[in-house]
Formats: sequence, C-alpha cells, structure tokens
Amino acid sequence: MKKHPIPRLTRRHFLDFAEVTDFVEKLAAACPDLVSLGTLGVSREGRPLYHLTITDSSTGAAHDKPAYLIHANIHASELSGTHAALATARRLVKDHPKSDLLKRVAFHVIPRLNPDGAEFVVKTSGKTRSRTDRSQRLPNTLYQQDINGDGLILTMRQQHPDGQFVADPKDRRLLIQRTRDSKPPFYRTLPEGLIVDWDGSDNIRIEGRSFDWNRNWSYDWRPEPEQGGAGDFPFSEPEMRAMAGFIHSRPNLFGILGYHNGPAATLRPPSTGADSDLDAADLREMRDLARLGARVTGLPEFAVVKYHRQYNPDLNLRGHFHNFGYHHLGLFVFEFELGILLNSAGIATTEILGVENQEQYETLLRRMMAWWDRQAKRDTIFRPWKRFRHPQLGNLEIGGLLTRHTGGPTLNDLQKIIQNTYRFTVEHASRHPWVKIDDLRVDRVGEQIVRIRARVANRGQFPTHVSNKGRNLDRLRKVEVALRLADDVTLLSREGHIRVGHLAGLTGSRTLEWFLKTDRRRGALGEIAVSGGAGGNACATIRLPQGIRS
Ligand SMILES: [Zn+2]
Repeated sequence: MKKHPIPRLTRRHFLDFAEVTDFVEKLAAACPDLVSLGTLGVSREGRPLYHLTITDSSTGAAHDKPAYLIHANIHASELSGTHAALATARRLVKDHPKSDLLKRVAFHVIPRLNPDGAEFVVKTSGKTRSRTDRSQRLPNTLYQQDINGDGLILTMRQQHPDGQFVADPKDRRLLIQRTRDSKPPFYRTLPEGLIVDWDGSDNIRIEGRSFDWNRNWSYDWRPEPEQGGAGDFPFSEPEMRAMAGFIHSRPNLFGILGYHNGPAATLRPPSTGADSDLDAADLREMRDLARLGARVTGLPEFAVVKYHRQYNPDLNLRGHFHNFGYHHLGLFVFEFELGILLNSAGIATTEILGVENQEQYETLLRRMMAWWDRQAKRDTIFRPWKRFRHPQLGNLEIGGLLTRHTGGPTLNDLQKIIQNTYRFTVEHASRHPWVKIDDLRVDRVGEQIVRIRARVANRGQFPTHVSNKGRNLDRLRKVEVALRLADDVTLLSREGHIRVGHLAGLTGSRTLEWFLKTDRRRGALGEIAVSGGAGGNACATIRLPQGIRS
C-alpha cells in the first residue's frame, strides 16, 4: 500500500473550507495510528465541524487518557487560528515518538469552529463576527455583496455633506475622522453591497442581527442588549451546542486552548469581575501558566476582563468561554490572541490598547501603512479606491483595507508565533494528571487465600481534579477502583470497589488491599480498573504468581 506523506501547511494564504478538509483528511491518512478524523456535527450551512483526535493508539484509546482540547476560528475573521491549530496537529505527529507526549495524552483539535463564517471571510474579506442573520431581508438594510465583480467585499465611500470621514492628507489611502478643521470632500462609508427595499433616505441599516459565539456559553449568560451578540439563550447556536456536547462527553479533559486574533495576548480567566472571584490557589497556578505562555510566545498576559483599551472600564464579557471553562469545567483555559497587522508592523499591544482617541489610532494606522510599503513580500492588505456607479447610490468609490488581512499578523510572522504557541501547548499538556496502578502484588497467604496489594497513584503534575474549582464539580468524577473477579473467585474483604477520591499531583496515592478466596493455583483471577478524574483510566490483571507456594 502506498504510504501517504504528512501534508504541508501553506504559508501563502488563509485556508478555505476545501483546503481545511484536504489537510485534515491527508493528515489522518498519513498517520492512521496517531490521527483519527471525526466531526462534532455540522454547521448551520451544513459544513462538517472537523475534529482530529491525536494520540498514540498503541498505548491506549483517547478516552482512556488525559485529554487536551485545542479549538480555533470561533470568530469568522480570525483565520490565523485555523493555521495555528493545524500546525499544532502536524507538529504533534512529527515530534512523535521523539516526544512521548502522545503516548500519555490525547489531543482533540477543532481547527475551524465556524466554517460558514470563515468561508465568507476567506472568500470575500467581508465582515461578520461569528454569524450575521441574513435570512430576513429587512427593508432599508444593506447586505454585503461583491458588486463590482472583483471577488471582494470592500468599503464603499461616497461624498456626502454629513460624511464622518475625510481622506487622510498624510496618507491618501486612509480615511480619517472628520474634525472641525477638515476640508471637503467628506465621505460616508458603507460596506460594499446592495440595499433591500430602499426608500431613498440616508437611514441605511447594515445587515441583520449579529452573533458572537464567544458570548453564547452558559456561565453567567446574559440576554441582549445586556450582552451584545449573546444569541437567544445559552447554546442557541448549533455549532456551540455541538461543542458543548463534545466537551461534556469527555470527562478526561484537563486543559483547553483557543486561538483568536486580537492585539497579541495570552488570555486567561476571569472574563467578568476580578481575579479575586477565583480560588486563590487556582489563580496562582493559572497565572503561572499564562506567564509561561507569555514568556515563550511574547504575547503578553491579560485576564480577559482586563483586555481592553486602557481608558475603558473593565470589560465584563458574559457567556464567554473562559468563565465556562473555569466555572463549569474546572479547567485552566487559555486563549492566544495571535495578533493583528498592527503587531506585525512592530506596534506593541500595550501601545494599541493605550490609544486614547481616534487621532492616536490613526497615527498607528499610518505607521502600519508605512511599514507595509517597506515590505518586500506583501500580503494584499489594501485595494486602491476605484470609481464605481452603484445601482442604487450612484457615484461612489470602492476600495480600502482588507479586514481579512489587517485582522491578523502576516502569514510570515504567524509561522514564528505558532512555533512558540506549540511550545506552550506541550508544556501545559505535559502537566497532565496521570493515574497509574503501581506495585501490584498478588500473594498467597493461606491454602485458598490470596492477598492483593496495589498502589493507585497520580504521577502527573496536576491533581486529578485539575483545579480546586474542579474538585467539587460532578463533571470531574472522583477516582474509583473497580475490582472485577472471575466467577470462581470470592471476595473476602468487606468491599471490592473502592472510592479513592481525588489524588493530588505527583505524590497523591492510596494503597489498597483485598483478600480473595480461590481454589486456583495459577492464572488470572480478575482485574483492577481505575477510572474517574482527568488522569486517564488504568487497568491491571490480577495474576497468581507462578510457582509460588503457601
Ligand atoms: Zn476572537
């Protein structure tokens, strides 16, 4: 049989859905012992939500190992995340067996949580958060569409006495905010598109309702308008419902990492309130990991609630994944904001979040354009303004910045960033809890009496409940030992199955002892099975030692 090579990940462009499909299929075909391809379900428009399970199947099934989840592209335009998730999947496979991580840990990689939204952005550079309801064609409402046939959805600018913008005198490509000193022409801007049932007035709405799937999670969910983009109820969006079902059917998850594109950052909980809302020891552990992430990636650490422009108040994001991850799952969850083009232009996140007004922001944009002009190899981030006769609005111009590219680092920078986020993933995942059966001893202590002693231990760094928050959550079942005996073996001890409870990291252990009655002289008497917690399941056969006499 022909061996399939491990597919390469292009560095030239963002992936459309067909390319994501091709990559995950090829990766699974290339490494059938390490990678299996599944789906969480399908998107609203019917695209599969791909899910790669990556583990060394010769050392056990994914559901018997501690598991680490990586997800990306919940926000439509945050395409870098898909690249990062797929590059991580590829690296995990390539580094095996040099690294023994896949022997002990199962990785779940969901590279594109939002295939419908991403497809719209990849193909057109149009704008949408996670989903925009375009099903109702509301009157006087503009719907995005490529109307000049260049394949892109850009910005329309039209001269208008009330226009909020003027062409930047320092960089004619940019539009800047109109001030009282501004000279005409003044421009109003609209996304490229057509207006449904237009009454000819200036009151033009932009598309329908907008959804932010990172506000659709169940912890502290709030309805709109209290929380913009929240949706109708927690998990009202089918893709998020599929993801929640996926997570809750995997009690062995011990860590979660998400990929986004905002100003470069390593984000951690909480997404509302303050650090003091979290268990103090959990906070220490989580900060320790987030700082490690920041150190190896150069993406500075923030609590989600503090990730905002400096002069804004704290940003309470209700129904955010991070609070769900900590409060509902009891896990340390992280997000890498892989950056925006301003970061690639050498502008630090502190500077981006430090801008105090529109004028300062415009200065950053000018710097970005000047930097872009100096690059030898350039992604197309800008299309010159071109005259166009709009069938409804008349003469205007179409052009401007491509949000598809300004919303992320350059593809070149992304390669370096991904190498470092991978280092963090390996370090975080290496801290997995690890439940083992140590020192199983079977001794004959009487004519028909056998004594079994076993130490059930957690030799991983995290406790089996991962966090203090997780200790009392039903999701993270406590460790239990089941003693399953052959039919002709009798248990003499008071109990066979034993609730061990959670085990501390590295040193947590419990020595168990049972007495059995059997006529057998050799062979297997049954098995010990350990389950619960996030440290994986362990199993050992109880075998009478050969040639041992009482
Ligand atoms: Zn995002």
